[in-house]
Amino acid sequence: MEYFLTEEQKTLRSLAKRIAEERILPVRAELDEKEEFPWSIMKDIADSDMFRVFIPEEYEGLGGGCFDLCLVTEELSRVCAGIGVSYAAVALGIIPMLEYGTEEQKQKYLPDVADGKRLAAFALTESTAGSDAGAIKTTAEKTAEGYVLNGTKQFITNGGEAEIYTVIALTDKAKGARGASAFLVEKDTPGFTFGKKEKKMGIRTSSTRELVFRNCLIPEENLIGKEGMGFIITMRLFDGSRPGIGAQAVGIAQGALEAAVNYARERIQFGHPIYSQQAVQHMLADMAIQVEAARALVYATARTIDSGAKKFAEESAMAKVFASDVAMKVTTDAVQILGGVGYMRDYPVEKMMRDAKITQIYEGTNQVLRNAIASELRKRKGIRE
Ligand SMILES: Cc1cc2nc3c(=O)[nH]c(=O)nc-3n(C[C@H](O)[C@H](O)[C@H](O)COP(=O)(O)OP(=O)(O)OC[C@H]3O[C@@H](n4cnc5c(N)ncnc54)[C@H](O)[C@@H]3O)c2cc1C
Repeated sequence: MEYFLTEEQKTLRSLAKRIAEERILPVRAELDEKEEFPWSIMKDIADSDMFRVFIPEEYEGLGGGCFDLCLVTEELSRVCAGIGVSYAAVALGIIPMLEYGTEEQKQKYLPDVADGKRLAAFALTESTAGSDAGAIKTTAEKTAEGYVLNGTKQFITNGGEAEIYTVIALTDKAKGARGASAFLVEKDTPGFTFGKKEKKMGIRTSSTRELVFRNCLIPEENLIGKEGMGFIITMRLFDGSRPGIGAQAVGIAQGALEAAVNYARERIQFGHPIYSQQAVQHMLADMAIQVEAARALVYATARTIDSGAKKFAEESAMAKVFASDVAMKVTTDAVQILGGVGYMRDYPVEKMMRDAKITQIYEGTNQVLRNAIASELRKRKGIRE
């Protein structure tokens, strides 16, 4: 489909594609096997100015928006979704500051992120607070010296590797979710350490780690926005970032579709390529239809966000849910088309199937997002709960 990309966007996409094919493809299986953070690839991404994409020009960025970020994430994820998410999670870590931070915070942190010198991460989840994010227990107590953080965050992408963390913590326990605030915490701050590094099913090159805060004192100026805005900032962040997960899912699905088509063309059974079997052709056709439909929804949502629209939570949830369900289905079908070898680690589709699963889980599980979409439908129709 023609998506009418600008010349800059076409250049961006081909640059990301080149990094994916020339630098990531040769090492993706090894990175997955060793569960190693892809530092050399992060350097390639930085050298190609890809971290500048989502940062405004005044902070040494390229001033792109959600759509540009989706284009890069999709291309990286087409080859390795673990690298796709390590890249996109940097944007997740700095967008709260971009949208609600002070000029001083932006001046201090953004040029280094644009340069790829410092990675970022976003930390909300805790062992008792996943879908029910309002149940967080990490506290940030205000003192004369600054805020003192105590608590443990779980499953944080780029945990341990990033230098800058946006952390959601309670400044007023009595108010629950309304008493949450967002803070910038730098790696190496005394009282901030890293706990368990998760061993995962997929996206294994990405780092997923616990953040542990024990009487961690941070300066007052590291508060993002105002006290009590933590959940507004988080909801706004996820509404804007879910198309990025959709783009990751589209990339995974596209990679699996290409692998399945190539294999079907080459694999001979009963004297003919298996592509000649109508049953296989129809599977491939359905996969192609789903990938294109997911891409169209993700792109349209990202463009809606970039247009400055005020309301996009529902579309954003739809794009994430649809694209991630497509990624799971298409990768599963790709494994089926490759038959026995599809199940082996020598071929990339088993990794793609493992990688696809997470897109249905993080940044709001697909069940929870379906709840949110249904709730909007209900409100529009005036149906009582
Ligand atoms: C690899 C990985 C990376 C991650 N990266 C980050 C990160 O960088 N930062 C961060 O803050 N978090 C991160 N997370 C956390 C992630 O967002 C949560 O895992 C996710 O929101 C789900 O929470 P949970 O795992 O506690 O599942 P739970 O909330 O315990 O859900 C378990 C099951 O119950 C279902 N369920 C729960 N409530 C409802 C409901 N109301 N209606 C219907 N079904 C429901 C869920 O859909 C799910 O199927 C990451 C997680 C993983 C696995």
